[in-house]
Amino acid sequence: MTLFDSPSFANHEGVHAFFDEKTGLKAIVAVHSTARGPAVGGCRMWNYGSSAEALEDVLRLSRGMSYKNAVADLEMGGGKSVIIGDSKTQKTPELFHAFGRALDTLGGCYYSAEDVGVSVADIAEARKVTPYVLGLSEGPEASGDPSPVTAEGVFRSTLVAARRLWNQDDLTGLTISLQGIGHVGGYLADKLHAAGAKLVMTDVNTELLEEVAARTNAQIVAPDAIYDVKADIYAPCALGATLNPQTLDRLTVKAVVGAANNQLATADIGQALFQRGVLYAPDYVVNGGGIINVASELKARESGGAYDPAWVEAKLSRLMETLEEVLERAASEKRPTHEIADAIAEARIAAAADAKAERLKAA
Ligand code: NAD
Repeated sequence: MTLFDSPSFANHEGVHAFFDEKTGLKAIVAVHSTARGPAVGGCRMWNYGSSAEALEDVLRLSRGMSYKNAVADLEMGGGKSVIIGDSKTQKTPELFHAFGRALDTLGGCYYSAEDVGVSVADIAEARKVTPYVLGLSEGPEASGDPSPVTAEGVFRSTLVAARRLWNQDDLTGLTISLQGIGHVGGYLADKLHAAGAKLVMTDVNTELLEEVAARTNAQIVAPDAIYDVKADIYAPCALGATLNPQTLDRLTVKAVVGAANNQLATADIGQALFQRGVLYAPDYVVNGGGIINVASELKARESGGAYDPAWVEAKLSRLMETLEEVLERAASEKRPTHEIADAIAEARIAAAADAKAERLKAA
């Protein structure tokens, strides 16, 4: 299949391949949309089996960023980048300088941040040669670790679900099965516990699991047993695609609200959850706090100001209003929540594209 025929191409504005002989850099940058502003999305370093596999991944992820940034109402479009290679053995500062030089040639239509295999330190290396990176840990504009803001968004989304389903303002009496207590899940566990939830949790990192369970009074279960827990809400905060044909019949929860990206293995699963009366809070709405935090760095950069927690808070509140709108419309239109979230994102992107076209015509 050629590039333009791939379903993942999905109207990308640009796809750029970069090679640097000296460092061996092989990178692809996909810019899905700049209608709402510069495309922003992380860089993933992964040992892809082939460049075709890397291309497919970057296109899929890039489109997802357009949707995530639009539902978070950020003045940013969607893009993503991948570096083909083993992040454990092939990383060097020079590789990220070469990556930074590659980004620089795009002149700011795409900003990269961290993703799987790419750390704050790597982005700091790229920053030495280009301004077109975000997610720094030093300097007045730096937004630092996005995980606490992501966790706050997931927590508030859980409260939104509790209000709709059980008409209560806290989580007293509710049992939540929590999968993954890493950067986001750890902060989330503390917030859920403080709001009165009973937690049943799992992680493959048993040492961390025991520590978090002890401080949140949680019950521990084995990784695969999390799907069988008799809980009210399932909070996936580890892996993607855990809502799939194998887990669907095991889950007895009334809601799914978690941080993990790409929770639905396929769109059919979203339809199946809807038919079973399970409230699925769409992942990219629920976990948008992290990208809002990153966006604050771009805003600070553009205005010459500093990281602004009040702006982050305002955007997070707006995101929760959007979640309410998604759930309300899904109920009244009798459609799955993920379809409504996509429709809202697509409408916002289309409106911005029209406005941009008008501006360019007038200029
Ligand atoms: P993390 O790597 O810090 O935490 C993931 C945790 O899941 C780890 O503790 C890991 O041991 C555990 N885990 C791995 N496999 C598991 C399994 N089979 N069963 C149970 N636990 C398992 O990652 P994170 O930053 O906390 O992100 C969690 C999820 O949220 C990811 O899907 C990520 O893409 C998504 N997300 C994170 C952010 C953010 O701000 N960090 C923002 C948006 C989305």
